[in-house]
Amino acid sequence: MTDAYDYSDRIGRVEPSATLAISNLAAEKEAAGVDIVDLSVGEPDFDTPQNVVEAGKDALDAGHTGYTASSGIPALTEAIAAKLRGNGIDATADEVIVTPGGKQALYETFQTLIGDGDEVVLLDPAWVSYEAMTKLAGGSLSRVDLAPHGFQLEPAIDELAEAVSDETELLVINTPSNPTGAVFSEAALKAVRDLAVDHDIAVISDEIYERIVYDAEHISLASLDGMFDRTITINGFSKAYSMTGWRLGYLHAAEEFVGQAGKLHSHSVSCATNFVQHAGVEALANTDESVEEMRRAFAARRDLLVDQLADHGVDVAVGDGAFYMMLPVDDDDTAWCERAIEEAAVACVPGSAFNAPGFARISYAASEARLREAIDRLVTNDLL
Ligand code: PMP
Ligand code: GLU
Repeated sequence: MTDAYDYSDRIGRVEPSATLAISNLAAEKEAAGVDIVDLSVGEPDFDTPQNVVEAGKDALDAGHTGYTASSGIPALTEAIAAKLRGNGIDATADEVIVTPGGKQALYETFQTLIGDGDEVVLLDPAWVSYEAMTKLAGGSLSRVDLAPHGFQLEPAIDELAEAVSDETELLVINTPSNPTGAVFSEAALKAVRDLAVDHDIAVISDEIYERIVYDAEHISLASLDGMFDRTITINGFSKAYSMTGWRLGYLHAAEEFVGQAGKLHSHSVSCATNFVQHAGVEALANTDESVEEMRRAFAARRDLLVDQLADHGVDVAVGDGAFYMMLPVDDDDTAWCERAIEEAAVACVPGSAFNAPGFARISYAASEARLREAIDRLVTNDLL
């Protein structure tokens, strides 16, 4: 112990990421020789498409190893703007900041908008880091629970209308959702738009799972009338292109916002990794087939899980996107997850981490054989 470290109030307000903590625990057990079926972390189990890997290598060989413009190389910011125009957002390259991962884009957004006591509204179950980022920025939280509505937003709009007010600074929308897989309907997003406009609220639209959608259509919030100037669209390469470790993401917002967030970006990360950005250009240009292959594999896994669980009498709310499923478990979901990893060697994340007690999150970014194995082990150990 030393008195030299006088920790900030800010850092005392948060815990380490629960999703990463469980996957670290699973990795430790694996290293100790335990065969864990790891359904904890949200990480596609596919290789990064080979052409993207080659583009990264070529960029290294070509000497793209220095700093870049803080907001990103023009080839990438322009490709991102063009991609967003495809989503119906009237984007230009100077409204984009390229970041080391979507998480950094979110962090910069919270830090840019939220100060002491500013209210952030979250839809529960909500991905762990939204709460932590709010607290790190000094904000206060107001939450709307989608669990009683099968994790859908449309039936919860009246509750959302009650939760937001002129005091609300920021609302966070994540569709397709981590941790539920829910894809929000156009009607729900239009209702969000109406509330945001009425109360003059900024909205984060975290669209990192947009390419992993099954029986639904992904709609970009910023494409709706009235939303361009109040939406910060977050996206990244981790999930769509299986590029988690490359650390590449971005935000898009009106130029005025980008000017403010860009200050934080330039004083913290400077820029995203140069050669990784070049690989990102290739990912946006030439991966439609690989993305489709992964999407189909995820869809088949989801269906397999739903069937297997139904065989054991477990009904789940079936999501239309991402690669997550909320499994109803014991009230004490943390104890259930501890038993799952200790007794059945299956790693899942307790729903409490997402403010959804009574559930465990399954990430089905694992092979069908491993998913079957997980269900077998849970059944054998009386966890299902
Ligand atoms: N948003 C959501 C909802 C996520 O699940 C993740 C996963 N890590 C991220 C953002 C950030 O991902 P990354 O930093 O790898 O781009
Ligand atoms: N987003 C993924 C998850 O929820 C990766 C880990 C993290 O960044 O939280 O598991």
